[in-house]
Amino acid sequence: MSDPPSTFRNLPSVDRVLHDPAVQALIESFGRPATTRAVRDVLAGLRRRLADRGAAAPGEITQKALADRVAGMLVERAEASLRPVFNLTGTVLHTNLGRAILPEEAIAAMAAIARGASNLEYDLAKGRRGDRDSHLEAALSRLTGAEAVTVVNNNAAAVLLVLNALALRREVPVSRGELIEIGGTFRMPDIMARAGCKLCEVGTTNRTHLEDYAEAIGPRTALLMKVHTSNYLIQGFTKAVAEAALARLAHEHDLPLVVDLGSGTLVDLAAYGLPHEPTPRETLAAGADVVTFSGDKLLGGPQAGVIAGRRDLIARIKRNPMKRAMRVDKMTIAALGAVLRLYDDPERLRERLPTLRQLSRPVNEIRGLAESLELALRRHLEGRASVETIPCQSQIGSGSLPVDRLESVGLAIRPRAGKRGAGAVLARLATAFRALPVPVVGRVQDGTLIFDLRCLGDEHEFAAQLDHLDLE
Ligand SMILES: *Cc1c(COP(=O)(O)O)cnc(C)c1O
Repeated sequence: MSDPPSTFRNLPSVDRVLHDPAVQALIESFGRPATTRAVRDVLAGLRRRLADRGAAAPGEITQKALADRVAGMLVERAEASLRPVFNLTGTVLHTNLGRAILPEEAIAAMAAIARGASNLEYDLAKGRRGDRDSHLEAALSRLTGAEAVTVVNNNAAAVLLVLNALALRREVPVSRGELIEIGGTFRMPDIMARAGCKLCEVGTTNRTHLEDYAEAIGPRTALLMKVHTSNYLIQGFTKAVAEAALARLAHEHDLPLVVDLGSGTLVDLAAYGLPHEPTPRETLAAGADVVTFSGDKLLGGPQAGVIAGRRDLIARIKRNPMKRAMRVDKMTIAALGAVLRLYDDPERLRERLPTLRQLSRPVNEIRGLAESLELALRRHLEGRASVETIPCQSQIGSGSLPVDRLESVGLAIRPRAGKRGAGAVLARLATAFRALPVPVVGRVQDGTLIFDLRCLGDEHEFAAQLDHLDLE
């Protein structure tokens, strides 16, 4: 019992492990420094376990076992942490899964710009320093009707910058019904405080009238602000003031109206069979002086925040030193520019812009996918779970159109309860799908793992990797 065949004394030195022929082969592929580090870490791990247990399990310290462990560690470490996944959650613009997927045109544009030097801030005609916004301004002005535009890292940055540039140490009235929180960290009251301005809450949660704004306006008011309540809906006995009326009130007092649109689609989604969402063009036409919106929500581009509006206000915003800290990089400009060029051809937008394609994907097409994959999935889950094609509902996500649902089709995987109970089997199944070479992320609902196939691109890649499912 107490005879320890594998104690500290039996642990080989780092050098000895490195001389093992199998480990030598690893040095060839992964390099000496990484391999040496892995050998050290494997031995240190074993030493810790020996200290805990007093002895190693038989076979744990053989040359072969050590080499295998080192190889496993090297492979794992060589893999990038950020990886492609299958988003089968049914949420098209899933913030945790990277939101909008980019069209090939944008990917090619990024690659071309990443590969060499570019005229990012260089005016080629004049041969002197240029402005990075110049690459996007014409297209964004055309698409929004704005006089001027500037672009930052995301819409949160856009809101922070606008408030800091136009309302520092002054008051900003906002309706109590619009004090949004997005994704846990973007809370309008906190953003106001960090931007250095004073939030003036007006109205109530469900009802805000024009008089409420009028009463809040005083000598310290910097601007009026409206926030699109993108991820919730207030229903019932409600009242909000429309942009046009608010703009008139603001302008009577010589104040600008700023509208945070959140998603801000550049096209009328109703034309694609989707629910209408306010566009920057409509909002500016209604009288807003500045609007902000995201690049990677309904617009379908890279992460970015667009600030569009009156020329004098955009100029002030661009002069703010925080703009420098929030500026977009060249890859974003390349990708966003390519996406905006697709908007010049609305006829072909649906086929070329993945976000729009996914959002307007015909249910029949999704059902066809489900039916073709059902059998393969059933075969791989034989005896463990049932697989069934079901109607389900996708959502747009990222705080866009929060209550609208899109009819879709999915595969419902229901575990057969075994010794461990259905809940444990379901968790095990979901984990196994997430451990595939291209991890598959579905959603769990009422004891069922659902794969909504709306966003499934390459079904052959999906099916081919099912052989790797490890359900043990
Ligand atoms: C999503 C959203 C934001 C934050 O935009 P990001 O691009 O995620 O930074 C801000 N305001 C509203 C209304 C939003 O919907």
